[in-house]
Amino acid sequence: YKTNIEDLEPLGELGSGTCGHVVKMLHKPTQCVMAVKQMRWSGDLEENKRITMDLDVVLKSHDCNYIVNCYGVFINDADVWICMELMATCFDKLLKRLSSPIPEDILGKVALATVKALHYLKERHDVIHRDIKPSNILLDSHGNVKLCDFGVSGRLVNSKAKSGNPGCAAYMSPERIQPPNGSPDYDIRADVWSLGITLVELATGQFPYTDCNSDFAVLSRVLQDDPPSLPIDSNFTPEFHYFINSCLTKDYHQRPKYKRLLQYPFLTRYETKYVDVASWYAEATALSAR
Ligand code: ADP
Ligand code: MG
Repeated sequence: YKTNIEDLEPLGELGSGTCGHVVKMLHKPTQCVMAVKQMRWSGDLEENKRITMDLDVVLKSHDCNYIVNCYGVFINDADVWICMELMATCFDKLLKRLSSPIPEDILGKVALATVKALHYLKERHDVIHRDIKPSNILLDSHGNVKLCDFGVSGRLVNSKAKSGNPGCAAYMSPERIQPPNGSPDYDIRADVWSLGITLVELATGQFPYTDCNSDFAVLSRVLQDDPPSLPIDSNFTPEFHYFINSCLTKDYHQRPKYKRLLQYPFLTRYETKYVDVASWYAEATALSAR
């Protein structure tokens, strides 16, 4: 469907982050409401070539149910607009709204969807996400969990002034913070670490490296401390503990890749177990609205 930018009517901002902002918009000809991510091109030609290639990946990922559907993109000299399906919320907003941690059953579905999306990106498009965090894992009103912002996020210049957003650096793996041989050649397992941090945050209700008042303080602790884990005296199952501990293996050579993770009992459980995510979401947000 060929469309013009004039066909879009802004309905309000959904949020903004390190590399642009996301606006809810009505596509007037079809009456379809969508989420439009607005970003600015960087000044560098080579960089921009890569952005274009990444956009290509976004548009080719229709066949994965765990990735937010992209309808199309608008590109001009200054900006890139990515039009995507409108989701109900992201897990960052959800956690803030609920003021209580997310249950294990929900996180099982989150972990399974995220690992499948990342596995798909790697196998089909040879893409590393690089920005796994609660705000890039979205939920729709039917209870589907989907990943967004892959590949693009790391390559666009921030249209907002960004002086070290702790949100992004905070989920970074030890080998990205400090490359073992001085050269940055990390692999997909950097995203596995970020998923581990994300799940600990969602399961406990708080970011695991507390009391850090700068990016540098967080990064130092990621390197120095033992990896975070779920509290021992919690009601989480041993399989969940084990999954988290494996994702948060500091030495990335020992950290599992997606093929192996998909066979972990925590993920095989949610491959078959029915969880009514949609009802949980409806009830949890209704409670928090009271
Ligand atoms: P960040 O992910 O760093 O918070 P983004 O600019 O990527 O910043 O996104 C800003 C916010 O927009 C996110 O927190 C998310 O809640 C919201 N958002 C992004 N994409 C969608 C979407 N497809 N549907 C609904 N909300 C979205
Ligand atoms: Mg994002």
